[in-house]
Amino acid sequence: MKVILLGSGSYSGTPKALCNCENCTRARKFPQYRRTRFSMYIPKIRALIDPSPDLYYHLKHLNEKIERVFITHPHFDHIAGLPELQVFKEVIFYSHEKTLSIAKLLQETFLGQREWRYIPLEFNKWYDFGNFKVNHFPVVHQPGEVAGGFILEIGEKRIAITGDTGPEILGDEKTLEEIQGADLLVAEMTHKHSIPRTHLGVDDAVKLAQKVNAVKTLFVHISHSNYTHEELEEKVGEAGIVGRDFMHLGI
Ligand SMILES: [Zn+2]
Ligand SMILES: [Zn+2]
Ligand SMILES: [Zn+2]
Repeated sequence: MKVILLGSGSYSGTPKALCNCENCTRARKFPQYRRTRFSMYIPKIRALIDPSPDLYYHLKHLNEKIERVFITHPHFDHIAGLPELQVFKEVIFYSHEKTLSIAKLLQETFLGQREWRYIPLEFNKWYDFGNFKVNHFPVVHQPGEVAGGFILEIGEKRIAITGDTGPEILGDEKTLEEIQGADLLVAEMTHKHSIPRTHLGVDDAVKLAQKVNAVKTLFVHISHSNYTHEELEEKVGEAGIVGRDFMHLGI
């Protein structure tokens, strides 16, 4: 099975406007260091994870049909590209009902009536949709706001996506047990150092990868203020793959 990472970056992307840090300077010069906002695509079930603000650019390159969309949480870097899905007549959205209410609002505000469907998922519950199973698990990311990750079971393969999460995920035994030994772990690695209740730093993202012990781990949602791509590759070592935009991964 194939998975395509469309965007490997965090909220401001790399380069960030007006920033002259090493990563932003390099990204302006060399396109391979650019990071658009996080999103990924699973061809087998024509599923998009998170309609990022860069969705127009992602769709233009991908040129594939999207039938279903999973939304981890309603921060703008994970949902603001939703109106770009207007090119598709039928789309089914899956997320927590609070996230879906924001998705619906974006649809109604920018596109009006559509034949789109919204399927609310309760946290920590398995749903069987025939060609795939899904579990939306809660994470600690922004106090008072709803945020979660997904476990997708497609055929024989299990893909776990953390979404944006604080380091508290390392102590979440229930979730760790569910995602243990997944075929693919997509873990956020936003900053150099973790920010409690917000984002994972490099060390904690690696710790998570080691705890989960997935067949493959992909690190994503990388901020411009993080280490350079090469430094990150050195730091994560055997623990996983440092994401790049439009990376194709076999699992
Ligand atoms: Zn984010
Ligand atoms: Zn920068
Ligand atoms: Zn977020």
